[in-house]
Amino acid sequence: MPNPDRVELVRKRLGLTKIGFADLLGVDRKVIQRFEAGQAELPEHALNNLIEASKYPIEFFSGPSPEYPNPDGVSFRSLRSLTARSRDASQAAGSLAFMFDDWISDRYGRPEANLKLVPMNEPNPVEAAARVRAHWGIGSRPIGNAINLLETNGIRVFSLAEETRHLDAYSLWRDEKPYIFLNMTKTMERTRHDAFHELGHLVMHRHTGSKHKMAEFEADTFASAFLMPEEDLKAEIPYFRSLDHLIEKKRRWGVSAASLNFALNRIQRISDWNYRGNYIALGKIGKSVEPNPLPPETSQIWTKILRDLWTRGLPLSRIARELNLPEKELNDLLFGIASTLDKPQVEREPHVV
Ligand SMILES: [Zn+2]
Repeated sequence: MPNPDRVELVRKRLGLTKIGFADLLGVDRKVIQRFEAGQAELPEHALNNLIEASKYPIEFFSGPSPEYPNPDGVSFRSLRSLTARSRDASQAAGSLAFMFDDWISDRYGRPEANLKLVPMNEPNPVEAAARVRAHWGIGSRPIGNAINLLETNGIRVFSLAEETRHLDAYSLWRDEKPYIFLNMTKTMERTRHDAFHELGHLVMHRHTGSKHKMAEFEADTFASAFLMPEEDLKAEIPYFRSLDHLIEKKRRWGVSAASLNFALNRIQRISDWNYRGNYIALGKIGKSVEPNPLPPETSQIWTKILRDLWTRGLPLSRIARELNLPEKELNDLLFGIASTLDKPQVEREPHVV
């Protein structure tokens, strides 16, 4: 008999309400209700329809009840405009990420969370960013690969691939393990900002939650200060020259021109007047277009693990089978974070004549 909790998980992944789900399965909504309450079996034709539409193998549905991200510990960006269905779909993706992550943890050691000695709930975001930087030994240097930095310090990073236009990213603590889910379909500059915005939530709002009014502003300020420490900004940009100069300089910190403009205004290196002029000029270029864009960044840890698994005869398709998941779900969780090609490019052996 299928586990109702697993059926519900797939319903959420499909982004369906209970009514839409009943339609998909070709049954009355009451049948679903009784099934979820453990009062009735799911008719065979409904189960067949579910398997066909979801591409989940039948074995998936008889597994144990899934673990969901604790909603209190999850910080969603743009919470207000986010529909319940998008939120459910991305939380269900979190649940799948736990299954995948645990499977990997059984086979590979990865760094533990290196945030233990950082005081949690530091109320000042600029101070909190400086403390994490100091603890990670990066001083005021610019951040190279953001995903690598997070992973090296024990944060598990996954991708949000579903069509969640209103969802930029989310993060959570699962016991002592911090997770960050990133929307990898944006510009790299936006993704990097999102990554450290979520780090800010993990560090500053672990115990207070991130639903209070100032939480989003605090996380944004954390990200700005983390990516662009004041000391380095001041040394590199002693005075404002032109927007073109900002567009050239922004590559140093891997931020958008708009973020750099904002940060320079925050430390008063740019007057309000020039800040507004730049803001308007950048708006004309377009919000989703980044001038002088960064190349994509990917995870070294995931790339190494996937290569190793592949050489052991465990490409992603095999892992998906072991977890009874559609391969697409694993691909989506790693989308833009690691190359999930079944056949990774293997470095060529030196040619021996
Ligand atoms: Zn947030």
